[in-house]
Amino acid sequence: MLIRNAEVWQAGPADVRVEAGRIAALGTLPALPGETIVDACGGALLPGLHDHHIHLAALAARKSSVACGPPEVRDAQDLARALDRPGTGWLRGIGFHESVLGGILPDAAALDRLVPHRPLRMQHRTGRMWLLNSMALDELLRAAAPPPGIEREGGRFTGRLFDEDAWLQRALGSRPPDFSEASRELARYGITGVTDMSPRNDPAMAAHFARQAASGALRQSLVLAGTPALAEAACEGWRLGPVKLHLHEAALPDFDTALAFVRAGHGQDRPVAVHCVTEVELVFALALLEEAGHLPEDRIEHVSIAAPELVARMAALGDEAGLRACVQPHFVSERGDRYLADVEPRHHGDLYRLRSLREAGIVMAGGSDAPYGSPDPWTAMAAATSRRTSGGAVIGRDEALTPEQALALYLADPLDLARQRRVAPGEPADLCLLDRPWAQARARPRGTDVAATWVSGRLVHQRVDKAPVERLPGADAAP
Ligand SMILES: [Zn+2]
Repeated sequence: MLIRNAEVWQAGPADVRVEAGRIAALGTLPALPGETIVDACGGALLPGLHDHHIHLAALAARKSSVACGPPEVRDAQDLARALDRPGTGWLRGIGFHESVLGGILPDAAALDRLVPHRPLRMQHRTGRMWLLNSMALDELLRAAAPPPGIEREGGRFTGRLFDEDAWLQRALGSRPPDFSEASRELARYGITGVTDMSPRNDPAMAAHFARQAASGALRQSLVLAGTPALAEAACEGWRLGPVKLHLHEAALPDFDTALAFVRAGHGQDRPVAVHCVTEVELVFALALLEEAGHLPEDRIEHVSIAAPELVARMAALGDEAGLRACVQPHFVSERGDRYLADVEPRHHGDLYRLRSLREAGIVMAGGSDAPYGSPDPWTAMAAATSRRTSGGAVIGRDEALTPEQALALYLADPLDLARQRRVAPGEPADLCLLDRPWAQARARPRGTDVAATWVSGRLVHQRVDKAPVERLPGADAAP
């Protein structure tokens, strides 16, 4: 394939030849006999974007779920309307926040009033709690013994379930979901690779990912983070990423247990990725890595709130570049208004830092945390440059990045975050073509500018309003 007349990222106007899944040549290139030709019409040709922190199974499941929180659902009436769905099987609600019910977390009896006739499970927007109605409780407890994370009050189950996703999945007997639709959506944004950061990824889950990749349901290249046991799985269709340590301030693990976990990961030559959304979690993570020693790719996920002295400690931990930080700039727009209300004003400057991390020498990458944030990296880039909340407030104007710095968050090599991937001979042909030059796109980053996406030279997305650049695999099959 020859992509002609492209504005190649950091190389300027050029033609690009793709052969055997890789970029073969760059320059002024005459077409070869029989070669597929794509006219980029001067559009920017970028390395394909990589989402460095996503939860694919949860994103896929979300696509068949009912939204139960803001912005779609804002009050009790909205919630009742959203849950009023025909059908008899399980109803799965997502994104619930107690603000919908005036600060109240409903118990099973309260949910029965909304959904009396079918089992309901409703996930809190943090992803750490499920709220069950009575039919759901009955059905799950028939299938499995009550786990430690099921809440009891006066000997009765309240219907609240904390951090028991594995138990829930077992009790539901559910199979992991199909990734086709989620993968197609990511391709529309120009995403050619993802790092799945789900802490419970294990060899069984890896086998599901491998099947999804082999069947073509999952089109992106894949790095799997997860449990130490993941290292025992055969890497078919994916590459092994960090061990994931999920900290939760309200129930921090025993320090020595966590230390052993970090050392086990390092013993497998795997970096650790530590979930840190509060300052207490960040302090705990830094203490762990200061004690255990660190690998160059050890990383802090989210860094939602960090005082300057903690930024300095993060920077001091690495050899040259500090700990890595995987950030979610779109949380400024999606959650900013709520945080401005909930977080003490003296901490507002510590929220979702970007530029100060960069200036401290910390290598950063961007991840969506989808489905807990939007999977669209372009809205994240827009928020990284504007620092604007959806309500129009600005959080930490000085933390803004330039559009190029924001894009770079998604161009990092997933296994070597300090390295930026490029459109250059020898690199994989993971490509994102915009319908306009970068000088126009940078002014207001948006996903609809993506005209076509290739993974290893294979077309995985093209915009319907554009003339087809080539046939999608299967597009010519009989109806
Ligand atoms: Zn996450």
